Amino acid sequence: MTRQRRVILETLRESNAHPSADEVYELVRRKLSRISLGTVYRNLDILAELGEIQKIALSGSLNRFDGETRKHYHIRCINCDRLDDAPMGTLEDIEEGIGGATRYKIIGHRLEFMGLCPECLDIATDRW
Ligand SMILES: [Zn+2]
Ligand SMILES: [Zn+2]
Repeated sequence: MTRQRRVILETLRESNAHPSADEVYELVRRKLSRISLGTVYRNLDILAELGEIQKIALSGSLNRFDGETRKHYHIRCINCDRLDDAPMGTLEDIEEGIGGATRYKIIGHRLEFMGLCPECLDIATDRW
């Protein structure tokens, strides 16, 4: 693994903010000032393919990256686009049930929660 790739991986593992590729670039640039945006994009894709990180595809928003590779769900603020982990277990038994009922081989599912984060909710409440 190249030094650049290792720094990108460390940056993602340290953060719980689920950054976009551009945000990863901003963070990594503090440590490797000469890294290019293209290098960051390329390494993020490679790390995701290697299973070292997760690429999170969200409906109607930029892809985000997660240093936590265990399966988990996310909750997204529709106002500021903040993304947090949703505190719940995964729904493997539902996959099995649907597979059994439809005879599909289920390979995965997507579940995304949306709402207003605590900060945006405070602002919204102040305004009323
Ligand atoms: Zn928010
Ligand atoms: Zn996450």
